[in-house]
Amino acid sequence: MQPELLMLRHIARPDKQIILPPVVLSENIPYTSDGMYLFPENVEIMIGEKFYPLDRGLIVISPNAEDFHLAHEYRHHWQWMNGWEFDGPGEWQQRKTYKKSIIDYFMGSRSEMDAHLFSLPYIKKDFPLQWQEWLIKERERREGWIDRY
Ligand SMILES: [Zn+2]
Repeated sequence: MQPELLMLRHIARPDKQIILPPVVLSENIPYTSDGMYLFPENVEIMIGEKFYPLDRGLIVISPNAEDFHLAHEYRHHWQWMNGWEFDGPGEWQQRKTYKKSIIDYFMGSRSEMDAHLFSLPYIKKDFPLQWQEWLIKERERREGWIDRY
């Protein structure tokens, strides 16, 4: 068994009623991302040389992906299965700075922020925690807290 499927089972353990999507490893993920979730559809998609049905949704992660990428994409599946309307940009939007891109990506979308927060316990690297610090500070700034210090 592939380790990413084992990890997905671990991440999804509390959601026993949810049918899990297949996980495909691929280096050809668009939008400079390490993970992608495809919503369930009655079609097939070709990745690399193989066709995959999308009837259960599909998670595609790069070979460099970390557990938190898998958790993030799984959460989009969970959102779909729980009737959420996806409100994310769908693709990465490059802004003036990387920090601004991160803030706009996650703060502009309930779906993306929820997937980000869900992935936090699976983070082993420093950079997503840096994102979290930016997001918290931006929220404090928008709510006027920083001016009150
Ligand atoms: Zn996402």
